[in-house]
Amino acid sequence: MRQIDHFILGETPPATRKHQVWNPSTGEVQAEVALGDAALLARAVESAKRVQPQWAVTNPQRRARVMFAFKALVEAEMQSLAELLSSEHGKTIADAKGDIQRGLEVIEYACGIPQIMKGEYTHGAGPGIDVYSWRQPLGVGAGITPFNFPAMIPMWMFGMACAAGNAFILKPSERDPSVPVRLAELFLKAGAPEGLLQVVHGDKEMVDAIIDHPDIPAISFVGSSDIAHYIYARGSALGKRVQAFGGAKNHGIVMPDADMDQVVSDLVGAAYGSAGERCMALPVVVPVGAETAERLKELLIPAIHALRIGVSSDPDAHYGPVVTPEHKARIEQWITTAEQEGAEIVIDGRGFTLQGHEKGFFVGPTLIDRVTPQMKSYQEEIFGPVLQIVRAADFEEALRLPSQHQYGNGVAIFTRNGHAAREFAARVNVGMVGINVPIPVPVAYHSFGGWKRSGFGDIDQYGVEGMRFWTKSKKITQRWPDGGGDGSNAFVIPTMG
Ligand code: NAD
Repeated sequence: MRQIDHFILGETPPATRKHQVWNPSTGEVQAEVALGDAALLARAVESAKRVQPQWAVTNPQRRARVMFAFKALVEAEMQSLAELLSSEHGKTIADAKGDIQRGLEVIEYACGIPQIMKGEYTHGAGPGIDVYSWRQPLGVGAGITPFNFPAMIPMWMFGMACAAGNAFILKPSERDPSVPVRLAELFLKAGAPEGLLQVVHGDKEMVDAIIDHPDIPAISFVGSSDIAHYIYARGSALGKRVQAFGGAKNHGIVMPDADMDQVVSDLVGAAYGSAGERCMALPVVVPVGAETAERLKELLIPAIHALRIGVSSDPDAHYGPVVTPEHKARIEQWITTAEQEGAEIVIDGRGFTLQGHEKGFFVGPTLIDRVTPQMKSYQEEIFGPVLQIVRAADFEEALRLPSQHQYGNGVAIFTRNGHAAREFAARVNVGMVGINVPIPVPVAYHSFGGWKRSGFGDIDQYGVEGMRFWTKSKKITQRWPDGGGDGSNAFVIPTMG
């Protein structure tokens, strides 16, 4: 059995606890990952603390060169990384490449760290006085990441943290831990000092050890909302800087004037792609008006029947299996709940098996109509290939649905009416908005973050926000007297206003 170990500086002690890593396409266990504890973390933090001060004073273009080299190494290994990722996660090779590519875009952005971290300077804030401020790294940062983007989200975090001069401890999901380890190996090969980026595996025990470690001042988390809130609350109570991104239930609003063929094609990709295991998926569609709902449903049904479900290495598959047997059971249970709540199961993906791969964790594409805001299956995240139709009478009702939902990650509106789109974007209570764009993940030089129970903390991921999260600002007021002693350089404190 393949063993997946921690990636820390020095000898790794034998694991006392392990976690099984599935191949979701075959339904077989393909590897075991070691689960670490507080003692293992303490060793990793000690090495990180030794290496970080020297890295912090390495000039920023040299740090950027490591990022450039890392990007080239990942690109050179794109195919094998995507195959490894796909075999543990279950997403198709094309989606796995997308996962890596969207992470690399943040690495690309981090190559600009000399420019991004440039400070501010005021010459002559008072007689002979200059004021300047710059950003300093925090020390040792930590990232705790979910299973669904095992390349992208780690790169979002360590890319910005390390470029800014920090050491980094990454705790990836124990469900697909191999690619994060490979990324850390490549980062070392790219020229990062040994111990700068370390990977510790584990579950709640390791997460608690990270939160409680006194020498980790900042934690970035992405995962489900209850755990995000727990980490945010416990970490902040210890005075740490914490950003914790949670679950989602993104709505796609379809106005009567939308280009319906385009909407159907976008919806099918955004609802079922990656088996719906994306925090920016569109699992809820809100047609405005009865006629829009009927037209949309009529077009959606054949498009959904045309989807091809396959093993993750099938190049023609639209999507592959879900990540674990427990997750498959949970998704199917949500479909049952929706049925019991009175929703109409238009296309039922329960009990789906793929010929020749009967043990794989496949869920058929599911379409549910007549879903209402009172239903539990609407209120909670399903995170599977399930699209729910919630019918709205008018624009205002459609606007209220995502605005009042507990999650506020992403939302999309499909329309040809610029005024309606503009109103919607301004008034909707959600963090990321798409206008005729189904999955509005902002590019690397903006930033990423949802609202309400989709994001706890004030600072977003990547972009300038990412740099701010992993640094603190220092403000210096300086005076260099000429030593003439005639009083002309009397110290004057600049005043406000
Ligand atoms: P998860 O919350 O189960 O796990 C995330 C991380 O938390 C993992 O590293 C895991 O080991 C750790 N963990 C698990 N149980 C824990 C516990 N009891 N205490 C402390 N830590 C624990 O999430 P997941 O299933 O891996 O990922 C899917 C979830 O992540 C979905 O809810 C999805 O919407 C969300 N997600 C959100 C975003 C975003 O940016 N908002 C992005 C991707 C995924």
